[in-house]
Amino acid sequence: MSDDEVPPWRWPEERWRSSVSRGRAGAPLRPKWPNGARCAVALSFDSDHETNELRDGGTSIGRLSWGQYGARVGAPRILALLKKYDVRASFYVPAVSAMLYPDEQRRIIAEGHEIGLHGWIHELNSTLDYTSERDLMFAAADALEGVTGVRPIGIRTPSWDFSPHTMKCIEELGLTYDSSLMADEDCYELVHEGRPTGIVEIPVEWIRDDAPYFSMHRMLSLRPYTPPEGVFDIFKRELDGALEAGGLFQLTMHPHIITPRSRIWIVEDLIAYAQSRGAWFATHGEVARLAKALIPKN
Ligand SMILES: [Zn+2]
Repeated sequence: MSDDEVPPWRWPEERWRSSVSRGRAGAPLRPKWPNGARCAVALSFDSDHETNELRDGGTSIGRLSWGQYGARVGAPRILALLKKYDVRASFYVPAVSAMLYPDEQRRIIAEGHEIGLHGWIHELNSTLDYTSERDLMFAAADALEGVTGVRPIGIRTPSWDFSPHTMKCIEELGLTYDSSLMADEDCYELVHEGRPTGIVEIPVEWIRDDAPYFSMHRMLSLRPYTPPEGVFDIFKRELDGALEAGGLFQLTMHPHIITPRSRIWIVEDLIAYAQSRGAWFATHGEVARLAKALIPKN
């Protein structure tokens, strides 16, 4: 019987301990927010655009047009809203999206926001071998820097997951933070196989993501089940909890999902509410730098 055929209930202790030793949450990192702010609000937009279709090798013109909506209508609508309230946010952009829409990325940077890594073509990094994952991560960083002139300091993996090699690739690329894992609501230091890495995790959560509530699939009969008012209520309760704890409210959205006329108000009302409660709006990179300063230097 090979190792892979051994059922988990017969695994030796060493094997299940080793499985849970990768990308673990180490020291909690809870910075004091600038100007006595009650909490930090880190808004993010994953600009998948056409890569949502291309990543699986799809060429459906209809689905690609859905991606184009994200760039044509979605991103400008988001940028106008952020400007109206004078708040900064982070955009996670696959290299292919950046090359399809370089002006969009340059505008994002020019307006004070952050761009982070989000794969080459939104490939599922957790399924790749080390060389492919590393090469694509470096090529994507070069592509984003080539378009915007700014080297990204953070990543959100397209699969919201790590392969056994992702941590190594992130360290080799010299990134400050990752925002793909979920072991806390506040930032923490990533610990890999027992070794504190100095890399900050800004945790995500599927419940603080627009996609699970609003996604639909024509053939699979998957339909949105939560009305926009319900999604707003969930996000606001998450924000209220962060305000009470003095912690972090991190939110993930997508230009092609959150910007239709019946939904964009969710973002606007959240921003207005958070501002009325004295929250500090920051990019993920700004939050990560404050958190990283709490990690003791060896
Ligand atoms: Zn994505």
